[in-house]
Amino acid sequence: MLEASKISGLAIKENTTCERLDREAFRKLAKEIILKDISKKELPYEEMALKFLGIIPEDYDYQNCLLDAYATSAAAFYSPYLKKFILPNWTETPKAILVHEAQHALQDQHFNTSKFGNDTFLLSDKNLAAASLLEGDAMEVEGRYIDIKPKGENADPDKSAKLSLENPSCELPEILQEILSSPYDYGLLFVRNVKTALGEKYLNKIFSHPPQTSREILYYKEYLEPQKARQSILKNKALFSKSIGEISLRVFLRIKLGMKKGVLGASGLQSDTITIEKTAEGYKVIFKTIWDSEKDASEFRQAMTEVSSRRFGMHLSKDALGWTIETARYSKLTLLQTSSKIELMADVKYKD
Ligand SMILES: [Zn+2]
Repeated sequence: MLEASKISGLAIKENTTCERLDREAFRKLAKEIILKDISKKELPYEEMALKFLGIIPEDYDYQNCLLDAYATSAAAFYSPYLKKFILPNWTETPKAILVHEAQHALQDQHFNTSKFGNDTFLLSDKNLAAASLLEGDAMEVEGRYIDIKPKGENADPDKSAKLSLENPSCELPEILQEILSSPYDYGLLFVRNVKTALGEKYLNKIFSHPPQTSREILYYKEYLEPQKARQSILKNKALFSKSIGEISLRVFLRIKLGMKKGVLGASGLQSDTITIEKTAEGYKVIFKTIWDSEKDASEFRQAMTEVSSRRFGMHLSKDALGWTIETARYSKLTLLQTSSKIELMADVKYKD
């Protein structure tokens, strides 16, 4: 903790206790902690939304796998609820990781970070923006510790000591895995850029005015000089209404179509909402997006059309402003561009 404090300049206000747990206790506690952040009731809708977009495969059991997969992902963690470090007792945690977790404790002591990104949907744009800030700052401190650490001291956790999945088929699908790890890479770049722009006072600025969207993380200048307020299109009365954001969309398109089309297809996203409504026959899912320009919208339409052609094995025209198809899972699956807006919607057929 002392190292993290020296590197970041945040004073230690309180000493944080450390608990070392065996595999089963570690797994159990990790799950309990995640359960505080998510809503079990909402998981079926998250699953429906992620499958509709193609972020997870139709046969992935998201509702039952999320906790299992998530609990095995961390080598050690700091819990702002328990105000404790939770460490495995079956392996040595490298000091670089302890410094990283200590920085999370300092963030919490100074800026009350448990209030950050408290959307129940782990992948919501607001959560990813908050996670990027917290992880970016902790990665910066960890990186600076690695630069000064004694030679020969290991910085990476022992991979063979990782907790294994309870259900092997629960391994996170590639796109989901990449989205959930995006805060570490994009967040670090964001923190470094803001630090270069603002100098040492940057920490107070970013934590007292945390970025609200992944777009601000990607383009730190938009965070420093906010543009006019963006149109929010969240629908409060729907069963589910969340924003996905530019980083997730970029990761999705990049994995499907390659780097160039991924970056191009997702850039210029002004706002988006994925909404689920109950209908007489099942559910209606609508993904609405608003773009900076008609050109940005067209690039997304073309990318999404290419992804859909492959996914459903149909030839869909990239020149048309829209299309409607019928699949085993969706009826009236429609994509339509109207100037700088694009809607992708469908009726979800019941599974039984
Ligand atoms: Zn972290």
